[in-house]
Amino acid sequence: MSLQEQAATVAPAVSASPPVLASIAVARPVRGEFTYSVPESLASQLAPGQRVLVPFGRGTALGFYLGPAARPPGENVRLKPIQRVLEDSPSLPKDLIALLRFAAEHYRYPLGEVIRGSLPPGLSKPVDEKEAKPDVQHFAVALVNEVPPSLARAHAQSAALAYLLAVGGSAPLEEVSHAIPGARAHLKSLASKGLVRVEEKKLEAGVKEGLIQGRPDRLTPEQDVAGGTLREALDTGAFQPFLLHGVTGSGKTEVYLRAAEHALSLGKGSLILVPEIALTPQLVGRFRSRFGSEVAVLHSALKDRERLFHWQALRKGEVKIAVGVRSAVFAPVENLGLIVVDEEHDPSFKQDDSLRYQARDLAVVRGKQAGAVVVLGSATPALETLENVKKGRYRLLELKRRVDDRPMPTIEMVDLRQERPRDGMMTDEAPILSPPLLAAMEQTLGKGQQVILFLNRRGHSTVLLCEVCGVSLKCTSCDVCMTHHRSQNRVVCHYCGLAMPVPDRCLECTGPMLKLGIGTERVEAEVLERIPTARVARLDRDSATSAEKLTEMLAAFARRELDVLVGTQMVAKGHDFPGVTLVCVVMADTSLAIPDFRAAERTFHLLTQVAGRAGRGKDPGRVLVQTYNPDAEPVKRVLAHDFDGFAQQELEWRKALAYPPFARMASIRLEGEHPEQTASVARHLGNIISRNMPPASVGVRLLGPAVAPIAKIRGKTRWQLLLKGPTHVALAPLLARVEAALVDVPSAVKVVIDVDPGAML
Ligand code: ADP
Ligand code: ZN
Repeated sequence: MSLQEQAATVAPAVSASPPVLASIAVARPVRGEFTYSVPESLASQLAPGQRVLVPFGRGTALGFYLGPAARPPGENVRLKPIQRVLEDSPSLPKDLIALLRFAAEHYRYPLGEVIRGSLPPGLSKPVDEKEAKPDVQHFAVALVNEVPPSLARAHAQSAALAYLLAVGGSAPLEEVSHAIPGARAHLKSLASKGLVRVEEKKLEAGVKEGLIQGRPDRLTPEQDVAGGTLREALDTGAFQPFLLHGVTGSGKTEVYLRAAEHALSLGKGSLILVPEIALTPQLVGRFRSRFGSEVAVLHSALKDRERLFHWQALRKGEVKIAVGVRSAVFAPVENLGLIVVDEEHDPSFKQDDSLRYQARDLAVVRGKQAGAVVVLGSATPALETLENVKKGRYRLLELKRRVDDRPMPTIEMVDLRQERPRDGMMTDEAPILSPPLLAAMEQTLGKGQQVILFLNRRGHSTVLLCEVCGVSLKCTSCDVCMTHHRSQNRVVCHYCGLAMPVPDRCLECTGPMLKLGIGTERVEAEVLERIPTARVARLDRDSATSAEKLTEMLAAFARRELDVLVGTQMVAKGHDFPGVTLVCVVMADTSLAIPDFRAAERTFHLLTQVAGRAGRGKDPGRVLVQTYNPDAEPVKRVLAHDFDGFAQQELEWRKALAYPPFARMASIRLEGEHPEQTASVARHLGNIISRNMPPASVGVRLLGPAVAPIAKIRGKTRWQLLLKGPTHVALAPLLARVEAALVDVPSAVKVVIDVDPGAML
């Protein structure tokens, strides 16, 4: 059974007559829905989705009225009455109630907490009805097209202006201030220099004339077909899911924009989900310049007041389009007609704490409940999505060509086993940029074009190994190697953040230490050393420590003030830099060896995505892939531009080993202070599962209990159990047994259940 089919089974029952008993989700960490009685004076006021106050335990709690309830079994149960209804019109729209109920059930999380987590602060606490109700918003509007050289020394001002330009030339002050701390003051200074204007805009419903800008006159034939199909689907007003599989640079965003335009013309709202706003200002910019104040941008770190403001504007239907990250799947877009999930394969759609939801999957469920068209877009669709196409659940729309028939970049392999530079002595810091790669870089830079170097590891050296005893330097509280960060002159643990001075000698035997394993910092240093004239910057979590730095770096690269950008997967995202004609993958092998059944898929996705940054302008692109594993399946297939071949092979393998999409999984993860105690709890849970296993014919399997691939993080021992089965329904009874057993587990051992886990580490 698919997620959508399952969704239908938990739809709420709502009847017309005034309710006598009410089903309430209480915003406390307790499972299930609670039945309360409805005082006569409140019966006529109640509407599903309202916030209410209810007695709970010894006090009062915030609750959410979900609908009428049946009398619970038991003759003389005395039900407590609802105390107060907190609002006239419900905070939660009906389709969201159904979605949140589904999420609580599917991901096994308390419903009240799920609902509270989805609401902006201010609605999630029992506060007075004093709503922040600003119906005007201040917008900053850029009056120039680029950051003038005169601002070169005023970094913060230049960053604020760069952000504004990156998102389409105009944005609400709140948003700029979020991206660039202190931006209000900087924008004022910019205004006094005549570079920016701040204007007040009243939020109003409806498309405004003259807002539509930057629209290409002609769609490509493929865009036209995809767009037409989506228009027809929107016209039917029924749920229909699509995969938009379009190669990098094929113009997927334009298809989303046209679909949202059409939805708007039908009076319907749109929800656009993206992996990360700071890394994709271009998409936000294009939505904003096309729809102006019709768009609410929901980023991950909005301030409470802004979140509340956007929520209310969407809920009232004053703003009809929401562009946001994962959590925006819960945005209360009114009369939802369209949901887009851009880069639907991206792992960031899975939340990895509290409610462990997969926003792409929930988007499809929500589309079903709201009767909306759902478009999952990617150049490298997730195998789960592809399988849904094969099964006929999703319709396929393809864009096989780039815009303007620009060629796909040529992809060549550099076999590091032969080409690895070995000039000079064997030092502990052997170079990694091979002669062919350096030659290609010099040639590209010589033509005034730009280069991206990709390596998915930060730091300088990722392993420090003793030459005598062979012991590598590990974090004292995690089971991982320390990474050498030369710029900080320290070794750092990437899991817990522990840092210490670089040891000269092995801590065990005082032998000399070798520095192995290459990170982005070292690649940057090597580029600077080999091509001293190049203007080089590094983009990773160490250099882009704030949204301000990130925006400024991307903007400087776009303005071509930088020649070479070295970075982690942050450079592989949807950027559109027309000046980039060469992309180098420094080592394709880094993500292949990760003990995760998705390692090959993830490698293939990353390589294809980063390759897709090359040749997006008028000049053709070239990609060089350095590898020690030229025969590895994902590497070979990327070289051949063979997505279909890769997918087919990988799907066969997944089928043979019963991994998703051919099975459903749940992982049970344990973390504990004491190694022995943690192990014994893991074995105890394992026994409970084994004792309750359904007959073998059902096809449920338990893997583990086993020590997790990363055995220790922050001093805590980690174990895991993996359940695989044909459907979620087959797994549910076992997970319920585990949950029931948790009451007896000592509090020093933390156990979490993760349904449809993303990573296996
Ligand atoms: P994708 O997301 O598929 O990688 P984009 O949506 O970023 O591709 O589009 C690539 C580039 O092509 C963008 O600069 C975009 O503005 C441009 N573009 C898209 N559609 C058209 C079109 N029909 N005509 C001209 N340019 C287009
Ligand atoms: Zn650590």
